[in-house]
Amino acid sequence: MKHTITLIPGDGIGPEVVFSAKKVIEAAGVQVVWEICEAGTESFKKGIITGVPVETIESIKRNKVALKGPLETPVGYGEKSANVTLRKLFDTYGNIRPVKNIPGIKGPYEHYNINMIIVRENVEDLYTGIEHMQTPDVAQTLKLISRWGCEKIIRLAFAIAEAEGRQKVTCATKANIMKMTEGMMKRVFEEVAAEFSYIKSEHMIVDNCAHQMVMNPEQFDVVVMTNLNGDILSDLGSALVGGLGIAPGANYGDQVAIFEAVHGSAPNIAGQNRANPTAVIASSIMMLRHLQEFEAADAIENALYVTIANGRHLTEDISRSTDVGSTTEFTDTVINNLGKTHADWVKRSYNPFKFKSVKMLEKSVNQHDIGVDIFIHSADHSLKIGPVLEGLIEKTDFKLKIIANRGVQVYPDIGGLESEVSPHHQCRFIRKSDSVLRESDVVKLIDIISSKYKWVHIERLQELDGKASYTQAQGEG
Ligand code: NAP
Repeated sequence: MKHTITLIPGDGIGPEVVFSAKKVIEAAGVQVVWEICEAGTESFKKGIITGVPVETIESIKRNKVALKGPLETPVGYGEKSANVTLRKLFDTYGNIRPVKNIPGIKGPYEHYNINMIIVRENVEDLYTGIEHMQTPDVAQTLKLISRWGCEKIIRLAFAIAEAEGRQKVTCATKANIMKMTEGMMKRVFEEVAAEFSYIKSEHMIVDNCAHQMVMNPEQFDVVVMTNLNGDILSDLGSALVGGLGIAPGANYGDQVAIFEAVHGSAPNIAGQNRANPTAVIASSIMMLRHLQEFEAADAIENALYVTIANGRHLTEDISRSTDVGSTTEFTDTVINNLGKTHADWVKRSYNPFKFKSVKMLEKSVNQHDIGVDIFIHSADHSLKIGPVLEGLIEKTDFKLKIIANRGVQVYPDIGGLESEVSPHHQCRFIRKSDSVLRESDVVKLIDIISSKYKWVHIERLQELDGKASYTQAQGEG
C-alpha cells in the first residue's frame, strides 16, 4: 500500500536526521509519497507568527500522519513554540516516548532490562503558556488541567498497555502539593484504573518516580504523567538508555499522529553530518507500526540493532571505538544491514490502540460564590495593608479574611514568619451575606481597593457541591 506522509525536516540537525530516516524507510521498501513541508525558524523569518504555514497544516490534515524534525524555540524570549502550535492545532494530546535498552549502547544501565513507555499529556498544564508579569519582578504562569484532558491521556496509557500486552500502569503526579491540578490527574487515574482491573495500577509522587527511575528502572512498564512532569522524566528516561540521540517519540491525537525524536535541534552540531539519526529512525519504526507496516518496521529495527551491536560507523555520541561514523555513514550502514536479524531482538505484537473517545462534557454541579481573591501590587508590608483594606471595605458586603504572600498567610499575623514578603499580595475577601453574589458588588470592591492599591489579578472563590474549589493559604484556618 502507498502512504502519503507529511515530512517536516525542521531546524538545526533536523534535515540531516529526518532525511536519513526517509532514506532508510525507502530502502526497506515502504511505498511513500512524501509531502515535504516547512515549519519553525524559516516560517518565523517569513513572518508566520505560529511558525507553521497553512500549507503544512493542510498537508497534515489531509495525510493524518507526519514525520517531523525538531523545531527551534527561543529560550526565555521571543516567539511561541511551533511545536506547541502543532500539538494544539491537531490536539495531539498524547506524547508517547518508549524507553528501552538497545543492545550495544554503553551506559550505566547497559545490563538492565529497561523497557517502559512514558505517556506524557501534551497540550495542557503549564504548556498553555499563559503567563503574566504581575509586577515588574513577579511572574505568574497558569497551570490548566482539565478532567477530560486527564481522562484522555490516562485512557491512552491503558490502551497502549492493552495493545502491547503490558502489565502495569504507573501514574506519577505532584498531587501532594498541587491538590487541585495534579490531584485531578490522580483522581481520574484511580477512576479509570478501576475499569482495567486486569492491569496493575499504582500512583507515585513524581519526585519519587524520578528517584525510582534511576534506582530501579526495570520496575516501570507504562508511566503516565501531566505535561511538564512527563517532559522532564522522559528526558531522564532517554538518559538511562543512551541519551537523546536514540530516544524516539510520537504525538497522538484522535485524528492525527506526528512522529518525532525526543531531542531538539542541537544547534551545536547542526550542519556537520555528526548527528545521530537513531532517534528519528526509531520514531519512524513507531510510525510504520501505526501504518500497519509491521514487516518493514521489524526489518528496520533489526538493522538498527545489528548496526549498533557491530559498533562500526556509530555516531560519536554512542561510538565505542575510534571508528566513528557520520550521519550519512551510519544511515548507509543501517541500510546495508536491512534483512539481518539481531539475536536479542524479540518480536512483539502491536495491536491498534482501542479506547473510548472522551467528550468535553462538564459535570453539572451546584456552584456557590463565597468571595473573591484580589491580588494587589504594593511595596507595603501585608501587616500594614491589612488594616487599610479593612477600613476601605467596611461598608461593603465583604470582609478581609487573610492576606497571603507566595501562598503563606501573613495577615492576620500568625507569628514566626521570618521570610521577607514580596510586593504581590493575595487578599482574600469573603462575603458577609449568603445571598446570590451580584457582580456589581465585586466591581465596587475592586473600585474601592483601587483608590489605594493596584490590583493585578482576580479569582472567584466558589464552593462546588458544597466543597471549597480553591486552596487555603499555609496557616489559613
Ligand atoms: P537538544 O537540541 O535536544 O540538544 C541537547 C544536546 O543533546 C545537544 O547539544 C547534543 O549534545 C545532544 N543531542 C541531541 N540530539 C542529538 C543527536 N541526534 N545526535 C547527537 N547528539 C544529540 O536540546 P536543547 O539544546 O535544549 O534545544 C535546542 C533547541 O531545540 C531549542 O530551540 C529547543 O526549543 C528545541 N527543541 C525542540 C524540540 C522539538 O522540536 N520537539 C524538542 C526539544 C528541544 P552534545 O553536546 O553531546 O553534542
